[in-house]
Amino acid sequence: MPTHDPSVSTSLRIIPRDQHPISRRGISPNALRVLYRLHEAGHRACLVGGAVRDLLAGQAPKDFDVATDATPEEVKHLFRNCRLIGRRFRLAHVVFGREIIEVATFRANVDDGSGDRQVHDDGRLLRDNVYGTIEDDAVRRDFTANALYYDIADFSVRDYVGGFDDVSHRVMRLIGDPETRYREDPVRMLRAVRLSAKLGFNIAPGSAEPLPRLAPLLSEAAPARLFEECLKLFLSGHAVASFEGLERHGLLAALFPESAAALDANRSGALRRMLVEGLRGTDRRVAADEPVSPAFLFAVLLWPAYCRALMALQAQGLHTVEAERRAADRVTLHQLNTIALPRRFSLPMQEIWLMQSRFSQRQRKRVVRTLSHPRFRAAFDFLVLRRAASPAHEDDIAFWQEAQGNPDAAIAHHPAAEGGEEAEVPRKRRRRRRRSHAAGE
Ligand code: ATP
Ligand code: MG
Repeated sequence: MPTHDPSVSTSLRIIPRDQHPISRRGISPNALRVLYRLHEAGHRACLVGGAVRDLLAGQAPKDFDVATDATPEEVKHLFRNCRLIGRRFRLAHVVFGREIIEVATFRANVDDGSGDRQVHDDGRLLRDNVYGTIEDDAVRRDFTANALYYDIADFSVRDYVGGFDDVSHRVMRLIGDPETRYREDPVRMLRAVRLSAKLGFNIAPGSAEPLPRLAPLLSEAAPARLFEECLKLFLSGHAVASFEGLERHGLLAALFPESAAALDANRSGALRRMLVEGLRGTDRRVAADEPVSPAFLFAVLLWPAYCRALMALQAQGLHTVEAERRAADRVTLHQLNTIALPRRFSLPMQEIWLMQSRFSQRQRKRVVRTLSHPRFRAAFDFLVLRRAASPAHEDDIAFWQEAQGNPDAAIAHHPAAEGGEEAEVPRKRRRRRRRSHAAGE
């Protein structure tokens, strides 16, 4: 008898090997090894989750997860290279050098008395440690597209919740009642946006409707988990699509309240242009297999908030240098309420911001010092981005482009920065430079 949530209707559809495109050639040899070994030992063994979804959608999976009816202890007996992890839910990791195949025992989502599932008063799931049938395992997953099983016994795909058709129609649809499922785990709202951005899917209307309404629930999610989710949203090669999805579904303000407010207030759209340009650059780098840094990413995402805070502090009559430092600190501190941005990223993020005003200083000594700053490259790349917001930076960009090869030639070719409206700048900057080392305290 099925033990799964009775409000979710399921019916098994088996898609035989000749009616789906998943080939063993697309599956990691190590995942196949794990599947075969489990199968030969008499267990049910299926590839599940993102890997099946991605293969059906024609994308190369990032990692391969296996679901089985073997318990973690039984899995451990079958593989020497296996370690058991997790307290919330016991999982087996089978380790092949740098590749880890995660093996999870089928588990259920309802408390039938056999396990120790805990639900918080507000509907959030705290622990779910109940083993179940494959059908139970399917319905406790988030989206129908994520609940498909590729069975190594006959190479068929097993579909309990309509995921196969949803993938064909490129739809992300929550399993069960969307509002209930978002309340259980608000991070699912971000997963809806992220996975549809990644795969080019649409969110089903019923699953999209609650998003703007339930967005405030994200403030209850663990800030460390939101940080991880942000890295996946923006550093996996589909940052622009993720950003647009967050905007479209009313989730941006829940993650970045001050940046969202600043973007709303910025009538010209200059800040948004720059932000999107920054994310586009990130996507290009990921596509080219170049490294991307969370510090630079967050410098881009929180720049609107920083600019707005800076303007407010200057309007209060604060000296530019002091206002810059305080704006950087304030934005960082406030952002920590939602997303646990570690200091090893927030400090360089602040340096990228605080270096921006150095780029208008062109006395030789300062130029040399700026060029040798460890954050020069990132800060200069950031300056280049700011061109999307305002053409006013062209001259600075040209200057620093040249200065990297030959500072003296650059100074000779670009004499403009000394004198005129910039005349006052050097005096202020002297103080700022000392303090900028202490930024973030
Ligand atoms: P990707 O790895 O491409 O980011 P994924 O779908 O594989 O996407 P994972 O976080 O690796 O995402 O999760 C693996 C599987 O676990 C999912 O496909 C889904 O079936 C299930 N899952 C993950 N997170 C949740 C959640 N919050 N609620 C319910 N099921 C989840
Ligand atoms: Mg995955």
